[in-house]
Amino acid sequence: MPLMTTKPMFDLAYDGGFAVGAFNVNNMEITQGIISACAAEKSPLILQISKGARKYANMRFLRHIIAAAVEEHPELPIAIHLDHGDTMDLVKACLNDGFTSVMIDGSHEPYEENVKLTAEVVKTAHPAGVVVEAELGILGGIEEHVVGVKAEEVEKFLTDPEEARDFWRRTKVDSLAIAIGTSHGAYKFKHEAKLAMDRIEQIMKTCPGLPLVMHGSSSVPQEFIDLINKYGGSMPNAKGVPEEQIYAAVTQYGVCKVNIDTDLRLALTAKIREVFATKPSEFDPRNYLGPGREAIVTMVRRKLQALNSVGKAEAVVKQWQKLGEPMPAYYKK
Ligand SMILES: [Zn+2]
Repeated sequence: MPLMTTKPMFDLAYDGGFAVGAFNVNNMEITQGIISACAAEKSPLILQISKGARKYANMRFLRHIIAAAVEEHPELPIAIHLDHGDTMDLVKACLNDGFTSVMIDGSHEPYEENVKLTAEVVKTAHPAGVVVEAELGILGGIEEHVVGVKAEEVEKFLTDPEEARDFWRRTKVDSLAIAIGTSHGAYKFKHEAKLAMDRIEQIMKTCPGLPLVMHGSSSVPQEFIDLINKYGGSMPNAKGVPEEQIYAAVTQYGVCKVNIDTDLRLALTAKIREVFATKPSEFDPRNYLGPGREAIVTMVRRKLQALNSVGKAEAVVKQWQKLGEPMPAYYKK
């Protein structure tokens, strides 16, 4: 069962012209939709769990849902990642829950605090065989408890390339989420999306070898927004990052991991709304969660094309075997 850290994935993604999709899981249907899509496209994947997901679903349930996904697809390289960890206590809980990767997000703290917190997490996670993602710069938008800057201020808080170099050197972090003009949530931009590609390029130059991560990069597909608005919803002016821009960031600029959460929510919600509106007598949850799950499969398959990760699963498994990466201590129990 190739449950692994993100290292074998990023080793290949770094100069392989693809990125690994990191998908937020909150329940069984979402997890099944993601894993089916990745199996169909033979893509490596990261299943990520936020603090909110732990609270909503109960970690014990999530752990077993994920274990089932891993068991069902032993051929797929999978990493289990904490999304937006905010405290050492949460990180330690995840180390005990079998995560292979954790994010510590100190981006809202003063720089020195971010360095200190991240370095401490790295010192705790590495001996447990777990890798660490951190964040530098501030994103826009809002995601659960993570509140960013206003859309018009995003440019002021882009990641500074020299600071990134200093941060990496002092924390020994394994990957870095950067602020390049993206925003969390479904309302990312007032006008058209604008990613600071030159900023990615500069950070790649100051930090050669450091895998970069894009948050706030959901595409907010118009088809889902249209369905939601058609069938009783109200999401005017929702706007995301076009998939062509994600493709460019990944294939031309070397971004290694792209987080996807909002698009999963939109796909599920759009389909459920459609069923409720077109079949008002339907009351079997399988008959609306099922189509929702199918919508996730279709959306994720298209996303994997945008990430250029189609067909990369086997090579990642080979890299994992080559590294001889031990399983996190949790799995040796
Ligand atoms: Zn995020």
